Amino acid sequence: MAQTGEAGQYPDGDLEVLLSVKPLRLLVNPDLPALPAEGADEYHVMVSLQAPKGRGRMTLVSGDPLTQPRIEYNYLNNESDRQRMRVGVRTAARLLTSASFAAVFRSFASLTDDILGNDALLDEWIGTHLSTAIHLSGSAPIGPVVDGQGRVHGVSALRVADTSILPTVPSRGTFNAAVFIGEFIAHRMSETR
Ligand SMILES: Cc1cc2nc3c(=O)[nH]c(=O)nc-3n(C[C@H](O)[C@H](O)[C@H](O)COP(=O)(O)OP(=O)(O)OC[C@H]3O[C@@H](n4cnc5c(N)ncnc54)[C@H](O)[C@@H]3O)c2cc1C
Repeated sequence: MAQTGEAGQYPDGDLEVLLSVKPLRLLVNPDLPALPAEGADEYHVMVSLQAPKGRGRMTLVSGDPLTQPRIEYNYLNNESDRQRMRVGVRTAARLLTSASFAAVFRSFASLTDDILGNDALLDEWIGTHLSTAIHLSGSAPIGPVVDGQGRVHGVSALRVADTSILPTVPSRGTFNAAVFIGEFIAHRMSETR
């Protein structure tokens, strides 16, 4: 979906608005019973910036490879990302309250007109409803860390073959890119065997 805010390197936009067809709790655990009262279940609309300007940080906290690294997402740490996210949430709200959704939309669980109409309140609301899509990339990019075939500079026989080698953040989910990178590097390895 295109966005009206600053599109950066992706002129077509990087904003996604996803509407779930089942309540989120049933997506997470399909065996749960549906709530008996009609309309008692909450449905989620997910608004996301796929290529934010802000950058996260991953650091090792120990020399033990089995210890989890520290991941700091740093989401919405700059005005450009906050502004674009506001555009996304307001666009989603306008869609849901439009005549086209009248048959299926009842009310927002917590979003009010006051919040939607005020940047500071909306930023606060977004902050309390923020999550990650787990589309992480770029922690070992081509250039400073690996070459174009995933070979780690200065370490022999070590390759990285996932989205951590992407030098720029992709504008869509990382799954296809991860498969492509794996296939590409496997192909190169088989050629040099
Ligand atoms: C909940 C969730 C939802 C997502 N939704 C989307 C989406 O809608 N669209 C999208 O594009 N992307 C989505 N993603 C992101 C996408 O799934 C990932 O970018 C992608 O799967 C990464 O691929 P990968 O092969 O690098 O890692 P993974 O898919 O994590 O694969 C790594 C594999 O290695 C195995 N493994 C780990 N350690 C070892 C070991 N020591 N020995 C042997 N095997 C090991 C793991 O079991 C796993 O099978 C989602 C991710 C999550 C977690």
